[in-house]
Amino acid sequence: MSDAHTYNLDCQKCQVQYKLDDVAFDKSCQNKHTFLFMCPSCGDYKATAMTNIPQERWSEFVPADELDDLLARHAAAMKSH
Ligand SMILES: [Zn+2]
Repeated sequence: MSDAHTYNLDCQKCQVQYKLDDVAFDKSCQNKHTFLFMCPSCGDYKATAMTNIPQERWSEFVPADELDDLLARHAAAMKSH
């Protein structure tokens, strides 16, 4: 498996999976869209570029009813420059 497919979503301290807290779309032409994660146990934050996590894994942390909307916003953001 490649590194991208093994991106670690677990808090090393708590051994629980980070929860998606927010998504930041970059309005510039650099397409540096970012996922912001929070550990539900210790409250630690981390951010990672959306490109670090393949879209087929987004369903692991994006609620099903928000995934379509997120994919649409991401596709629109990738085109809007
Ligand atoms: Zn933690």
